[in-house]
Amino acid sequence: MSSPAEIEAFILGFEERVAPVEKAVKEAWWKLATTGTEEARAELVRAGMEYNRLFEDGYEKVRGWYEERDALESPLLRRQVEVLYRTFAGRQGDEETLDRIEELEARANAIYGNHRGVVRDEAVGENEIREILRLSDDGSLRREAWEASKTVGREVEETVRELARLRNRLAREAGYPDHFHRALDLQEIDAGELERIMSELESATAAPFRELKDDLDAKLEARFGAKAVMPWHLSDPFFQEPPEDAALDVDRHFRDRDLRELTRRTYDSLGLDVRGVMAKSDLYGRDGKNQHAFCLSVGREYPYDVRVLANIRPDAYWMNTMLHEFGHAVYDRHVNPRLPYFLRTIAHTCTTEAIALMMGSLSEEPGWLRTFAGVSDLDGDEERLAARRRADGLVFTRWALVVFNFERELYADPDRDDLNELWWELVGRLQLVNQPPGRDEPDWAAKIHVAVAPVYYHNYVLGHLISAQLRNHLEKHVTHGPFYENEVAGRYLIESFFGPGARENWRDTVLRATESR
Ligand SMILES: [Zn+2]
Repeated sequence: MSSPAEIEAFILGFEERVAPVEKAVKEAWWKLATTGTEEARAELVRAGMEYNRLFEDGYEKVRGWYEERDALESPLLRRQVEVLYRTFAGRQGDEETLDRIEELEARANAIYGNHRGVVRDEAVGENEIREILRLSDDGSLRREAWEASKTVGREVEETVRELARLRNRLAREAGYPDHFHRALDLQEIDAGELERIMSELESATAAPFRELKDDLDAKLEARFGAKAVMPWHLSDPFFQEPPEDAALDVDRHFRDRDLRELTRRTYDSLGLDVRGVMAKSDLYGRDGKNQHAFCLSVGREYPYDVRVLANIRPDAYWMNTMLHEFGHAVYDRHVNPRLPYFLRTIAHTCTTEAIALMMGSLSEEPGWLRTFAGVSDLDGDEERLAARRRADGLVFTRWALVVFNFERELYADPDRDDLNELWWELVGRLQLVNQPPGRDEPDWAAKIHVAVAPVYYHNYVLGHLISAQLRNHLEKHVTHGPFYENEVAGRYLIESFFGPGARENWRDTVLRATESR
């Protein structure tokens, strides 16, 4: 075993090499997402490959330290060794495979970014499709829009399969059964425990979801005069959210509003300043730009360079999304800058999703709507909003179970020729959505996460659970009232949740911040 001083020296030297390349990768990612050009794509691939090269040497040494980490007295050094080990382990493999994965992921990203479905002979983006599915009463238009939302699947299917095969190759070389198991292990998640949580959620939600779906179906059948509810009668391409309650027009609260201003005011109230992030962000849609929303932290130098990409429209969906992405942003912004480089980051994807989900959900909360959006005519909507929140949770959980189960099977055998059927079997069983008769399309590949954010969806599920636990703790023990109206909540989050960064295992952060132990 090397001495702590030797390990520290290695880490410092490594940080110097990693920092500029890591930053270049993030810059390239931003460039690609905001321009969609071929040049940006090539730069992202180049930077990604350069980044991977950094992990070619030193793995054996780092693994040795990791295996004997208990002998290290400093908890901070021990944690750095753990984080470093996982970072190295995630990038081991032959150069050819690693490079090919880099290339394919960039290609997939470009396809999702540039693809436009066709509705009534016109190329449409995801915002237009979402709008049709949310609002239109025209059944045949809805069907066209839904089908258009899936056409990207065919274009990207082979890329996704090849990515799965290559990821599996790397996983098996490292002694895992497949990429699914390797990815979970490298995310410090116990596959068996996650499996248990997911199957418990499946059985706990089965009956209430069926009841909800029956109720929805009755309403949708009446609305569309349909004998059976088909996927295009639902209000988004994958049934990730419950359809609009016609009596509850949440969009009306945002129609003439500046969503940036509402976002700023919400975070101001928590004592969390988002002006710096906003100034660096790219918030409105245009051609060639990535159609989704995300938050990106570029480099780890203080002051942190954090940016949000969005495609704002003045509606409830984008209000939720803005609050969500800026939740990620305030977390990134408030990681203690005095932490060592490799710990100067979020504790875990599920902890940052927890914050983002807790913030995003405010957009449908009566108290927030009154205080921040100045809504005075909520009368009667409280109950509907509460029902909506409950429906949101149920519908999302069932959808997340589809992705979770599908990916596990995909990685168990990416070459099976019945993936299309498997997808619809899961959608039918878990979401109770009818498969259009005779449909045999790679609809699973139309979901961007399956291609470029593999084995990720459970983080949203864990994020929901953590978010509920954290909010409960905040309001019971810290603010004694709505957390979003109180600067003390912001200070508490900075100290207990954001500040510690990756200094400890994410479970410890959650348990400590919610005092659940
Ligand atoms: Zn998020």
